[in-house]
Amino acid sequence: MGHIQDTTVWNNENIYKSFSDSTLINDVEKLTVQIASFSDKAKIFTAAIDALENNSNLPENLITNTKESLLERLNISSEMMTIMTFASCQLSTDAMNVEAKDLSGRLGILNSKFSKGAKPLQLFLQRVSPDFIKELLESDEMNQFSFELEHSRKLRDFLLSTSEEVLVSGLSQDGLHAWGKLYNALCGSMKIQVGDESLGLARAASLVREGDRSKREAAYNGINEAWRNHEESAAAILNAINGWRLEMSEHRGQKREMHYLDVSCHQSRIQRETLDALMDQTYKQREIGQEALLSMAKLMGIKKLAPYDLIAPAPNLGGSQESSTSFGEAIDIIAEAFSELTPEMGDFARMMADKGWIDAKPTENRSPGAYCTKFARTREPRVFITYTGSMGNVITLAHELGHAYHNWVMRDMPLAETSYSMTLAETASIFAETLVKKALLEKSTNREERLKIMWQNAESAAALLINIPARFEFEKNLVEARKVRPQSPEEMKVLMKNAWERWYGDTVTEYDEMFWANKLHFSISSLGFYNYPYLFGYLFSLGIYGQKDKYGNDFKNLYHRILCDTGRMSAEDLIKKHLSKDITKASFWQDSLNIVSAQVREFSQEVEK
Ligand SMILES: [Zn+2]
Repeated sequence: MGHIQDTTVWNNENIYKSFSDSTLINDVEKLTVQIASFSDKAKIFTAAIDALENNSNLPENLITNTKESLLERLNISSEMMTIMTFASCQLSTDAMNVEAKDLSGRLGILNSKFSKGAKPLQLFLQRVSPDFIKELLESDEMNQFSFELEHSRKLRDFLLSTSEEVLVSGLSQDGLHAWGKLYNALCGSMKIQVGDESLGLARAASLVREGDRSKREAAYNGINEAWRNHEESAAAILNAINGWRLEMSEHRGQKREMHYLDVSCHQSRIQRETLDALMDQTYKQREIGQEALLSMAKLMGIKKLAPYDLIAPAPNLGGSQESSTSFGEAIDIIAEAFSELTPEMGDFARMMADKGWIDAKPTENRSPGAYCTKFARTREPRVFITYTGSMGNVITLAHELGHAYHNWVMRDMPLAETSYSMTLAETASIFAETLVKKALLEKSTNREERLKIMWQNAESAAALLINIPARFEFEKNLVEARKVRPQSPEEMKVLMKNAWERWYGDTVTEYDEMFWANKLHFSISSLGFYNYPYLFGYLFSLGIYGQKDKYGNDFKNLYHRILCDTGRMSAEDLIKKHLSKDITKASFWQDSLNIVSAQVREFSQEVEK
């Protein structure tokens, strides 16, 4: 027996041996029963809401019932997530796996039953009096729910009646969310003509990331041509999604105005002032990203970048042959760089590889992209990446291991305190990237290598300080325009061109006027303004990193404490508590922008040499 474990593929056998594992089959059955009984018990909250609405007496033993239901909901969702993760991990490495698809489909249905069953509890907790919540949270066991409850209760003014809430969420499945599904279906069925080849969208999109410029151009043109053929549908999707949201805001905003950015800030767990300060300061400093774009063009030997150059790898500068980093070497590099902060973080990176918690080996039918996930039951992280040895790959691996480390330092905390918003999620990943890039730069022995690493910095600066804000700008202007009436494809193009012009200025050859259609983020039905959290995370993370020298030896503990509080605090409170800084003020963001500015200057100077 005793085969050698390949450390570049996942080993999830401690969760379930296989899809026919009897424990898995039992667990799914158990979950089904649990959800049915949970939903049944949760009916008491429908009665409780009725009592609140009619000012009559609440049902008896409601505190006890609420406590039990909250714990049971947490327990079910942990089990549900564990089994779902097991299936989705398998699907990432092999999209054709029939057993994984089957399990994933069944869990999807089970999960929507669970959400439906949990709805009365959620609505009750949002509506009930502060006194009830205070009493509820008094026991130690309940403490872990306090941030989540207080946060969701901030939306209580915007609640509709219970029957309306239930109706809206039911209708949204074939209303709002159907538009998002239509977008995905279009993407899945699209054929892109690139040269004399007809490719799927995912494959064509991956060509835009490759080194061959003419291939990138052909792929970009092919993708936009395909979207032009579907532009009426793409515009209808955006009009419907945004129209739905505006209509909802109007209904919900009876007591006080419900602004679309306030909704987004609530999801991001930040204040509106913080978002404004971040965006305003980034706009004032747009020259940093623009300088990065011009220097990247120079290194490519062209005057300006075209839209299809924005995510290209560093150009091959001749000289030595293309270097490639093996997976084992990448782990060594990352572990060493992490150890600079604390040996514990370095050991963690090695452990991730040793335990088979990273799946990196290119396989057929593999999902694109990279991500970090976790098994809620065992609190173990997993990382997915398709590793082929490029510099970009090494940085992405560091990024995902940063996310994994974040989960790892929280592993002993109560589960309800460990879920953080997207804005704070990117803190740990970009922090890890920063550590690795710095170590790589310090170790690099020749100019070519240095330029490759600096290219990554420049590309991040351009993407995050220019492209992401342009997306934000477009979406904001689209929502405003949609208030007046639906927008035609031609009007969408103008909105997008204007947004690009405001941020890119004249630093690119043309503006991508089809970006509203070809960037899927605008058509995510469940979430508006999907993009700015990346800019937030980037500058927020650098803001923390920038304090490294000031705190010296204490910094590593400080960093851990910050990570541990990401699931139980707003971003403002987090930074006030640990760094005594105010992120609603421009100066916090300016300090981070100064770090990016120095990175870009370093790159420009190296290009000039
Ligand atoms: Zn990330």
